[in-house]
Amino acid sequence: MMVNRGAVDERVHPGENCLMSDSSSQLTRMLVPSCMRDRPVVLHVDDDVASLKVAERALQNAGFDVLHAENGIEAIDSFKQHEPDLIIMDAVMPVMDGFDAIEGVRSLPGGEYVPILMITGLDDLESINRAYDLGATDFLTKPVNFHILPNRVQYMLRSKRRDDALRFSQAKLDNAQRIAKLGNWEWNLTTHHMSGSRGFACILGLSDDQPITRWLDMICHIEEGDRHNVRLLADEAVEQRIAFNSEFSVRSGVDNSLRRIRLEAEPHYNEQGECTQMLGTIQDITERIDAQKQIHNLAYYDLITGLPNRAQLQEQLHYTLQLASRNKTKFALLFLDLDHFKQVNDTLGHDAGDDLLKQVAIRLTRVVRESDVVSVRLDEPGSQYTVARLGGDEFVVLLGQVARAEDAARVAERIAQTVSEPYILGEHSVEVTTTIGISVYPADGENSDELMKSADIAMYHAKESGRNGYQFYSRDIHEQALARFSMEGELKAAIENEDLTIVYQPKICFTTGQVTGVEALVRWQHPENGEISPADFIPLAEETGLILPLGRWVMRMAAKQMQDWIDEGLKPLNIAVNCSAVQFTRSNMIEDINEALSFSGLNPSYLEVEITEHLLLKDVDVGITTLRNLKALGVQVAIDDFGTGFSSLSYLKRLPVDKLKIDKSFVDELYTDSGDVAIVSAIITLSHNLNLTVVAEGVETAQQFEILQHLDCNEGQGYLFSAPLEGVEFIEWLTGFHDMKYKRVAQF
Ligand code: C2E
Ligand code: CA
Ligand code: CA
Repeated sequence: MMVNRGAVDERVHPGENCLMSDSSSQLTRMLVPSCMRDRPVVLHVDDDVASLKVAERALQNAGFDVLHAENGIEAIDSFKQHEPDLIIMDAVMPVMDGFDAIEGVRSLPGGEYVPILMITGLDDLESINRAYDLGATDFLTKPVNFHILPNRVQYMLRSKRRDDALRFSQAKLDNAQRIAKLGNWEWNLTTHHMSGSRGFACILGLSDDQPITRWLDMICHIEEGDRHNVRLLADEAVEQRIAFNSEFSVRSGVDNSLRRIRLEAEPHYNEQGECTQMLGTIQDITERIDAQKQIHNLAYYDLITGLPNRAQLQEQLHYTLQLASRNKTKFALLFLDLDHFKQVNDTLGHDAGDDLLKQVAIRLTRVVRESDVVSVRLDEPGSQYTVARLGGDEFVVLLGQVARAEDAARVAERIAQTVSEPYILGEHSVEVTTTIGISVYPADGENSDELMKSADIAMYHAKESGRNGYQFYSRDIHEQALARFSMEGELKAAIENEDLTIVYQPKICFTTGQVTGVEALVRWQHPENGEISPADFIPLAEETGLILPLGRWVMRMAAKQMQDWIDEGLKPLNIAVNCSAVQFTRSNMIEDINEALSFSGLNPSYLEVEITEHLLLKDVDVGITTLRNLKALGVQVAIDDFGTGFSSLSYLKRLPVDKLKIDKSFVDELYTDSGDVAIVSAIITLSHNLNLTVVAEGVETAQQFEILQHLDCNEGQGYLFSAPLEGVEFIEWLTGFHDMKYKRVAQF
């Protein structure tokens, strides 16, 4: 098959019947896509060769290239090969007629839109209708006027180009709508007919067999919960001829998921100024809403527990405050801190820690939800509750409405109890407790900052007075907190300026009556408040970490004092120094002691470290290790306040210590309470069995002394012998001291 080009192309031989003859150069020309050709190509199909010739000349002269075919089969082949821009098709032909050929071409790729001009008999109306039905674009009746044929062809091609452009822009629009998940629609207000773009059907999740042709069809497609609303809105907008928008859900025809759709509509007026249509768009905003939700979640929820975070709590608090101040109601803030959470993290790892936090969160939410004291009424949003995590092991429970402060206390009690039940973390069963501070609006603060601070202070106070409990905020606590704050600054200055002093209290041997050693006790001479008891400032120093420099200083000074006395000729005595839990666990105590020893030049065997029993009980293994290190230095170790910590015998056996100091509380009751005699007696016997020296603290009376001596206690310390004394006073006291006074006399 070949192309016959007119005078324009040298390779074409006009008049030559070249049907079916092949020419590769002409084929190459034809492979150029139709949109890039400078001359349109017309395929003329007719079994009348004479007609072909006449038409060819006319078409070539008008600027077309021409292909020929003599029947339907050849026409289809030629179309496949050359994709002509237009086909002129005779109706009646041998082998395959024009009607079948039209059908064949239309079913080919690219054959859908090619313009086909059908040539039929003059008044063969039936043929004409049939040709249209099969997809002919236009028709001409025989005999054909070959002079006007090119005009007709030209016209058809122009209109084809317009159609192409329209289709192209429609496709572009469809594509853009698809990307934007957008569709547009029209609603005829007179006929109530509705039509929409491809995107419109797609977004509504419609398949081809559920076309929407009426506004009501679409309404029916909306999920039931939203349907009524959209309908009302639309009716109102149509009635008033105004724009409207709405959001609703539909179920996707693809995967049955719920999609959120936004609809926008505007009235449209015709040239006469009548409102005849509503025009609008719909857009699938499911992903956008999901993304917004996710962003919201990130900003307002805690990732580990899924609870509201600080930001969300702040908002909730703000809202609750407004409501409570308007309605003159009370609400409560519970500030929770897990006790010893850090230990779980440190020993079982962070994953276990996270797991614990999650479980705590679940319990908290459950307890608060189930607390019958919080009457949650959904119609009163202020009476609801919020459980939030502030970070770390801190949680806050906001009880939106409480009748009385006691209600909050009851919730706190239940929380404390529930949280303290064991947790399973992997293979471990772990127990934690929580300490809770409570503030109540409006008594404890009028804004969220004040309320949070009050609850925090109350929590802190509850921690101090023994963990696993709750505490209300009170002015007293607040004042104490303030006082503590200013005291902290002053204590810091006192340590720096060395405004502290050390006093010494002797210990007496119950057998020889001689002084065996002294305990160094720190004193603070406050410029305004006078002497402050260590019982008051040591806890503060421990909390703030000031105990570290303080303890180091006492250790150094006490060791130095003893060495000075020895240098001055005093018979060497033991010097005992108290060591706080914080020093024991947080500082490098061994280094500090070494430093004090080398600074003073004191023989380590004269230095004694007093450690309270409570401290050793906390973590026995760590305790034993540190005690061993102390022993390795050559210093002596005493257990202070013994008897208050409920040590078991087996435990005591494992501790590398030299001494027990029986707590003053047992000594106090010695001659009033026979039970205490038994305890003290047992402690003494036990200590002897373990080769430990027993020292009784707080010996104030001769009777106590006698009983203790009788029970075979080794040493004693207390006002009966001497109060703690300043260095100079102590030496004076020692000079006047007579061994014989307390020397044991034979009993029999
Ligand atoms: P502690 O180690 O049990 O010290 C004994 C306390 O009992 C001292 O109180 C002492 O003055 C007092 N005391 C002694 N004999 C009697 C008596 O017969 N009757 C009565 N009622 N009390 C007596 P102080 O000096 O007020 O010390 C209180 C606590 O402060 C000490 O208890 C100790 O735990 C701590 N502490 C004192 N100095 C230091 C120090 O330098 N470092 C550390 N970490 N803690 C210290
Ligand atoms: Ca002590
Ligand atoms: Ca003590």
